[in-house]
Amino acid sequence: MTDHYDVVVIGSGAGGGTLARTLAMSGKRILLLERGNFLPRELCNWQPLQVQAAGRYVSQDTWYDAAGNAFEPRAHYFVGGATKLYGAALDRLRPADFGEIAHMDGLSPAWPLSFDEFEPWYAKAEWLYQVRGLHGEDPTEGSWSEEYPWPPVSHEPLVQQLADDLDRAGYYPFHVPRGIMLDERNPPASLCIRCVTCDGHPCLVHAKADADLIAVRPLLSRLNVTMLVNAEVTKLKTDPRGRRVTKVIVRRDGVREEYRGDIVVLAAGAVNSAKILLRSASSRHPDGLANGSGQVGRNYMCHGVADVVALGEKPNETVFAQTLGVNAFYLADDPRRSSHPAGHARRWPLGSIQMLPRSARLAREAVGFRLMTEDLPRPDNRVTIDREHRPHLAYAATNRGEAALLRHEFEMMLSRSSLQLTLDETATVPGGTAALIADQAGTCRFGTDPATSVLDVHCRAHELDNLYVTDASFLPSVGAAGPALTVMANAIRVGEHLIRRLR
Ligand SMILES: Cc1cc2nc3c(=O)[nH]c(=O)nc-3n(C[C@H](O)[C@H](O)[C@H](O)COP(=O)(O)OP(=O)(O)OC[C@H]3O[C@@H](n4cnc5c(N)ncnc54)[C@H](O)[C@@H]3O)c2cc1C
Repeated sequence: MTDHYDVVVIGSGAGGGTLARTLAMSGKRILLLERGNFLPRELCNWQPLQVQAAGRYVSQDTWYDAAGNAFEPRAHYFVGGATKLYGAALDRLRPADFGEIAHMDGLSPAWPLSFDEFEPWYAKAEWLYQVRGLHGEDPTEGSWSEEYPWPPVSHEPLVQQLADDLDRAGYYPFHVPRGIMLDERNPPASLCIRCVTCDGHPCLVHAKADADLIAVRPLLSRLNVTMLVNAEVTKLKTDPRGRRVTKVIVRRDGVREEYRGDIVVLAAGAVNSAKILLRSASSRHPDGLANGSGQVGRNYMCHGVADVVALGEKPNETVFAQTLGVNAFYLADDPRRSSHPAGHARRWPLGSIQMLPRSARLAREAVGFRLMTEDLPRPDNRVTIDREHRPHLAYAATNRGEAALLRHEFEMMLSRSSLQLTLDETATVPGGTAALIADQAGTCRFGTDPATSVLDVHCRAHELDNLYVTDASFLPSVGAAGPALTVMANAIRVGEHLIRRLR
């Protein structure tokens, strides 16, 4: 096996897998290095006790908090990365998210690209990941250049009733875009059987559009793509001037190996990519590779997430509940809010509301909701490494005030429903996404100023000619929507740039 490739991609999740898929079509020789293996397809995929309670697919890893206490991060190191367990809610950020936004706790910074410039790659990602959705329902969403490839997953009766109530009350409910392979017009041909476990579980019938199935597996038969699993990248080495990455150091099945690429793309997830760069310090890059600005590892973001359970009067027979979303509180000063009683919270953007999967571990009458608030990039929320090169994550949540307001508005909204839902303050949602790690982002943000960002607008490290980063690290802000579609769209964007560069 050769040790030299046109492009070496590190990590096979939303950022790395999608990038490899984009590049593969160019015929260039690509090496995809993945720390984990393929996730086994087994009955346990769908068993909450195995997946959620016993943590069957949680990879062994230890991180440390700011005080130096060890914790187990519930990371998933598999081909496809976190998308193997994600909920496949594939929302776009809103146009406003690409500009500067004032929040209760400070500013969400502007991107170096506008929504309109980025939008074509959203459409490409939606087609690649077979997203089911419907444009035009949610007034916050901005323009679109293509319709979704498939119609949205339809609401089941209870969810439809709620949607009708909220529509009448002026909340603009919408169908949440989802990357699942479901053909409601032709059920026998459909892979998805609308099970309850989409979010937080691997899909046993391979109906979830994750990075493994959509991006990586179709590449395995290509002669120009080599994939190595159980291949953990530990370090990057540069030429004597420190301008090019010349070697990728890998521990594969316990053995040290070295690979070379004309281009090296890091996509190991926001924490692990920062860790690799910090570990790759040298005399030319004493504070870590690409870290002349001191920004590598900083600005860690996730989302403020509250999972709330309400109880109805009748048993909730819904199977696939995650079809309904509300963004009526997403933007500050949105004039549309004046049509319903959310007036007093108008000054701040509060976030999004989506329904949660039904859970056998909750009361039969339970209806679940996830309230998501934007987290802000703070320099002190950061990944560092200690002398033994172990990762430390210092983090304090932001915008808690907005989360409280969102909760208040949510309660008011619920009171407008004919379903007679009352909040169950005692319920805790089993397996609710551990958003601190699940939505990790921001540790190598892109921007135009090398003093305040790690990557340029093409996601190339400002300080290196051939190093790119395409996982969720690049995000300068996260909005109040899941990051996956934005990471996928950006990976296609960077992939197309690399194809032009390699020509
Ligand atoms: C339970 C759960 C539910 C979620 N639901 C949603 C959702 O519904 N919608 C949404 O938008 N987002 C969701 N997310 C978040 C979404 O999955 C992530 O934002 C997205 O996968 C991030 O992409 P990434 O490329 O940064 O990282 P990942 O997709 O995690 O990919 C990183 C890859 O790098 C590999 N790797 C790590 N270290 C190394 C190394 N040293 N060497 C080689 N390889 C390495 C990992 O094994 C992994 O394959 C969810 C996440 C979880 C955990």
